[in-house]
Amino acid sequence: MPLLADRQSQLLIDGKLVAGRKGVFDTVNPATEEVLGVAADATAEDMGDAIEAARRAFDDTDWSTDTELRVRCIRQLRDALREHVEELRDLTIAEVGAPRMLTSGAQLEGPIDDLAFSADTAENYPWRTDLGHATPQGIPTDRVIAREAVGVVGAITPWNFPHQINLAKVGPALAAGNTLVLKPAPDTPWAAAVLGQIITEHTDFPPGVINIVTSSDHSVGALLSKDPRVDMVSFTGSTATGRAVMTDAALTIKKVFLELGGKSAFLVLDDADLTGACSMAAFTVAMHAGQGCAITTRLVVPRARYDEAVEIAAGTLGSIKPGDPTSKRTVCGPVISARQRDRVQSYLDLAIKEGGRFACGGGRPADMDKGFWIEPTVIAGLDNNARVAREEIFGPVLTVIAHDGDDDAVRIANDSPYGLSGTVFSGDDARAQAVASRMRVGTVNVNGGIWYSADAPFGGYKQSGVGREMGLAGFEEYTEIKLIATLAG
Ligand code: NAD
Repeated sequence: MPLLADRQSQLLIDGKLVAGRKGVFDTVNPATEEVLGVAADATAEDMGDAIEAARRAFDDTDWSTDTELRVRCIRQLRDALREHVEELRDLTIAEVGAPRMLTSGAQLEGPIDDLAFSADTAENYPWRTDLGHATPQGIPTDRVIAREAVGVVGAITPWNFPHQINLAKVGPALAAGNTLVLKPAPDTPWAAAVLGQIITEHTDFPPGVINIVTSSDHSVGALLSKDPRVDMVSFTGSTATGRAVMTDAALTIKKVFLELGGKSAFLVLDDADLTGACSMAAFTVAMHAGQGCAITTRLVVPRARYDEAVEIAAGTLGSIKPGDPTSKRTVCGPVISARQRDRVQSYLDLAIKEGGRFACGGGRPADMDKGFWIEPTVIAGLDNNARVAREEIFGPVLTVIAHDGDDDAVRIANDSPYGLSGTVFSGDDARAQAVASRMRVGTVNVNGGIWYSADAPFGGYKQSGVGREMGLAGFEEYTEIKLIATLAG
């Protein structure tokens, strides 16, 4: 069946597609402000039903121990998503405002293919490891380490890369034997809800194993952090919300996995190709209108070449006009909502109040009256103490900061409440790697290397999060460790 043929999505609870008790809410195209259709609006009672279904599926079925079934279901899901990939592409461009070119990578096709990594990992995983014989306290004992699912996982996700983030939780959590309730962002309900339709039509997932609850009300998602029937909450979103999730989860001492905000630095050392480095930094900030948590939004350049660096960055960013995400050539689409546009604009206003200047951009494009747009912008003339250099803006905005050598560049990179990602460019790989090893961040790009991949762990230091998503580490986040000690005969 075509996806969301009647332009209305439902909840997936206990294996059935059902309506939300609160009715429906609109999902909107951020490039045109057109209402695309509606999504089921869940209440606290709906969320309670979903949690109960996940609890039953975990406690009363053999899902957590039947690895073969889990692997089969995840591969079915991957195959069905691939079959629907062109419909999903259109949906993603329309609902997320994601430029078409990004849908062949992290916005869509990448995370679908990456489900294979979760299935393969579960299939080949050493669920039991022999720790061997020992005589602790003089008692002969044979020890085995068992890895087991944590239980019911509550997954709460944002709107910027919805498929990537939804599937990077759904894949490993289910492959590891957990059951799950997914609560997506209200701005992108369909990207998650289509999974419900595909799962019911094309896969053998038993009822309750995966539940999808869309809601216009953030407090419905908060129930996942609070409810004692949920064993673990896996959250991606802002640091402020992550803090609320952690606080709520403390009431029941839940396992908490957090992927939060960032303010990552792109360090250009004095022997680097300045034009290549600054152009790349600028281009990256324009992609998906800067709505990526790991985008390097602080460009840190040698003081002696500051003006030149600003000019190069502005040359690149100033030439990228925000535009129609359906076009193959568009790099910078809209931001997700009027609220987000106004938030970015308030940071641009703040940059001027703080004494900065715009080398390009600086506001809303004059010629676009429908949709939520921000011009790619370079802020110059500020140091790392400015709020626009410290706080996450989440728009196509690059702040250029001067450094006085490698030590100072590292100091600036680390002088941030965040620690998500970073980049170092130098003419000398060893020198760049030495700088990379001093950065307190979860991923570093050295001279253009790509850290994003299904087998590579991703996550943050400091207030950018707790734990790692993807890779083996991302799979093991969804497991508990049990030591079984047997008296040796
Ligand atoms: P957000 O924190 O506003 O919302 C994220 C999700 O949390 C949404 O589903 C929302 O409904 C839900 N939510 C809101 N309040 C809640 C509460 N009290 N309890 C539980 N859930 C609640 O974030 P956003 O605006 O949707 O996304 C942008 C943010 O996400 C940025 O800060 C960005 O850096 C971050 N992000 C981080 C990563 C990463 O991997 N580190 C990836 C993508 C986005």
